Amino acid sequence: MYIIHVAEYCDFLNDPTHGIYMYDYLFTYQKQYSVTQAITVNGRKIPAGIHRYETTINGCPVYGGPNDPRLGDIHNKSDPGYFGHIELARPVYHQGYFNVILKTLRCVCFHCSRIVVNESEFKLNKALSLPNRKRRLEALHEFLRSRESKKCDHCNGYQPKYTRVGLHIEVEYSAQHATEGGLAGDRKQYLSGAQVMEIFRKIREEDIRALGLDVTWARPEWLLVSVLPVPPLHVRPSIQMGGGTGTSEDDLTHQLVNIIKSNMALNNAIKNGEPQIIIEQFEQSLQHNVAAFMDNQLRGMPQVTQRSGRPLKTIQQRLKGKEGRIRGNLMGKRVDFSARTVITADPNLGIDQVGVPRSIAMNLTVPERVTAFNMTELGNLVANGPTVYPGAKHIIRSDGTRVDLRFVKNKADVMLSHGWIVERHLRDGDIVYVIGLKGFCIIVCRLTSFHDSI
Ligand SMILES: [Zn+2]
Repeated sequence: MYIIHVAEYCDFLNDPTHGIYMYDYLFTYQKQYSVTQAITVNGRKIPAGIHRYETTINGCPVYGGPNDPRLGDIHNKSDPGYFGHIELARPVYHQGYFNVILKTLRCVCFHCSRIVVNESEFKLNKALSLPNRKRRLEALHEFLRSRESKKCDHCNGYQPKYTRVGLHIEVEYSAQHATEGGLAGDRKQYLSGAQVMEIFRKIREEDIRALGLDVTWARPEWLLVSVLPVPPLHVRPSIQMGGGTGTSEDDLTHQLVNIIKSNMALNNAIKNGEPQIIIEQFEQSLQHNVAAFMDNQLRGMPQVTQRSGRPLKTIQQRLKGKEGRIRGNLMGKRVDFSARTVITADPNLGIDQVGVPRSIAMNLTVPERVTAFNMTELGNLVANGPTVYPGAKHIIRSDGTRVDLRFVKNKADVMLSHGWIVERHLRDGDIVYVIGLKGFCIIVCRLTSFHDSI
């Protein structure tokens, strides 16, 4: 689901066919990252970003809250709404980038952030000569994994083993390393987002390129979330309850409130100088909430729920599946001149025929133009009307006006004219297209009363 691999994204950006426009676009995009900049309201200074969990106080939206007026006016149709941001107290992992983060970590030194082997190594240069960024990272990662030495060629520091555990990464030092390095205590340690950030920030520019990332457009430290975008109110409208007794907030707003609360708790813990273990716990709670904001159905993770116990519907839940935005709301809904029914095998039917129930045949129509040759016949169908088979449902006059035969009283008296169109019921010999059977089938409707009740 995570749009594209970062490296592929760079290839896309560097493609000269659309390069310049993409750069321009990204430049403006970056500058306009958030509208919740610091402002002054009624002489009161409001800091940048979203940092309060209250949505409204006395019915008024709170500046700095998830329904900040700077995010746009929900009642104004011409207001598109704007993104805000939450500055996270500590960077957290982005669950969509775990693989790239792990690969990058394994390629660079834990201590000095340089690619762990000497530049003179033949296999390294072979991997680096790959023009495709994604494959380059892959090849580099593969080569370094097969390397015997677990030390960095530059600073001689030991390289720990990285593994993903739930929503964070753990480092494990080898027994040899633990004794030689004088490491006391547990060999397995929690690796915080901030530590990864620090390693990534120190990576040299040439090494970033070697890793298949990009110095300007896809820096390794961007693989972690340090500033979280807050979607505009139009994406998560609050619903007015009947009688104006209060508002009920959207699930996304609820989750934003959770994020803000855990962010505040983490901030306070850091400020009060709490012990590392406590800070780690707050950090994991923030991590969990940020992950749930994007996807509330992650494996091995408890779902965030409403007070009633109903799990929150967050971004991924809105998009995916049959009832999601794509399949449920955006793709085609209804098709004219189509109907659905059970079709069946029948020894009395030809190989190119299919039986259609009468109720379906009376619902589907075929437009037929009135000529001297079919005028009497079509006149009879019109006289039968929409409820008697074989009949007709509509007449379209030469000027385009449409007559619905349901509302015509004396159908037998209708005089047809040349050039009019009669929309008659489907009948034997008509050709229909059956979805699921490849190609067009020539189909004769054998109308049996047997299937009528469908
Ligand atoms: Zn090193």
